[in-house]
Amino acid sequence: RAGELARDVGMEAYAVGGFIRDILLNTPNSDLDLVVEGDGIAFARTLAQSMGGRVRAHHKFRTAVVILENGQRIDVATARLEYYEYPAALPTVELSSIKMDLYRRDFTINALAVQLNPANFGKLVDFFGAQRDIKNRVVRVLHSLSFVEDPTRILRAIRFAKRYNFRIGGQTDRLIRNAMQLDMIPKLSGSRIFHELNLIFEEEHAVDCLRQMRDYRLLEAIHPLLTLTPAQENLLEEIEKVRDWYRLLYLDEKPRNWMIYLLAVFNGMPEEDILSVCTRLNLTKRQSSDILTLRTQTNETVYRFKMWRHRGGPVSELFFMLEMLPLEGLLFFMSRYNQEEVRKSLSMYLTQLKGMELDVSGRDLKGMGLEPGPLYGEILRKLRAAMLDGQATCRDDQLALARR
Ligand code: ATP
Repeated sequence: RAGELARDVGMEAYAVGGFIRDILLNTPNSDLDLVVEGDGIAFARTLAQSMGGRVRAHHKFRTAVVILENGQRIDVATARLEYYEYPAALPTVELSSIKMDLYRRDFTINALAVQLNPANFGKLVDFFGAQRDIKNRVVRVLHSLSFVEDPTRILRAIRFAKRYNFRIGGQTDRLIRNAMQLDMIPKLSGSRIFHELNLIFEEEHAVDCLRQMRDYRLLEAIHPLLTLTPAQENLLEEIEKVRDWYRLLYLDEKPRNWMIYLLAVFNGMPEEDILSVCTRLNLTKRQSSDILTLRTQTNETVYRFKMWRHRGGPVSELFFMLEMLPLEGLLFFMSRYNQEEVRKSLSMYLTQLKGMELDVSGRDLKGMGLEPGPLYGEILRKLRAAMLDGQATCRDDQLALARR
């Protein structure tokens, strides 16, 4: 449809980037990115009108997002010759605007396009040897200034290489080392680094990425206190296992992975060092204090859990203990303490206890003539404990207990 619409308004439209890369790699990817030679925002509006959806435009970048009624998003960008100012990196020959658009991308594998206009529908546009690189499983930059121009691409190279089990090409590897020697990383803003780190923490092989970052001395370039000790590495590996375990519970709540990984990277560091790294990554005050609170809470939980287990405490106590922890804290707790028994307790908590509702509410207490106040909370907590411990599992039992 997009190709026909483009033809009708006299533009050329292309599907580009990750979507095409992942088709060739036979990997699912639903993020469709389009580039049009023409006015991208106007084209996005036409597309939205025809397919039913709304448009969010960014005039500064001449890009737009079409949000279809089913929630799917299509990014539309404008390929325009005058848009690019690449004095150093550009060959002198005049390039078509799609070629220019692709040339400013990070790696060959991300610089593929497919023509959408009906006359050439489905034709693969590969100016930079991406098909060959995909076949050889190589991440390769498009030109030698790539990492100098944008050092976050070093993190991206590692991320794509680990995700697809590709290697970083020989010349690209030399260019990374060269950029590292030129001290490019310390000049990068914390937000940009954190953005890319966040993407890494969403990857299945996040720990491998961190290892490779360490090997390129990228971690210490981000902040001298960022090292990966063997103890931290072990903990990170546990996190990966716990993430897999959690995924298999098929629960709706998704953890903020960056928190869990940072907790592991910060393990054993004093608070002021953690805050210093948080400042370097430009975390908000709230994010930094959340991390510190989570760390304290998890430490306390580890201690209380040991006591609970030692005493053979009731299920309700486990519930009240774990209820204090946000999901990220629970998963980090489990990573620090990944034993069969802990896994069982956490499974029980997440899949059963957490969803159990009392059959009695404040309204019932009011019906009994009790004045609303702090007593309500106390009674409901006691009822909940009884329910969790199997002593008052139905409404009648709970009401009877409340009367007592
Ligand atoms: P993913 O599957 O992780 O979403 P993606 O390729 O869609 O992969 P994005 O980070 O969404 O990755 O970026 C979209 C496209 O924008 C990439 O394919 C790449 O061509 C380009 N791009 C993103 N960041 C950069 C960068 N720092 N330098 C050059 N090109 C970039």
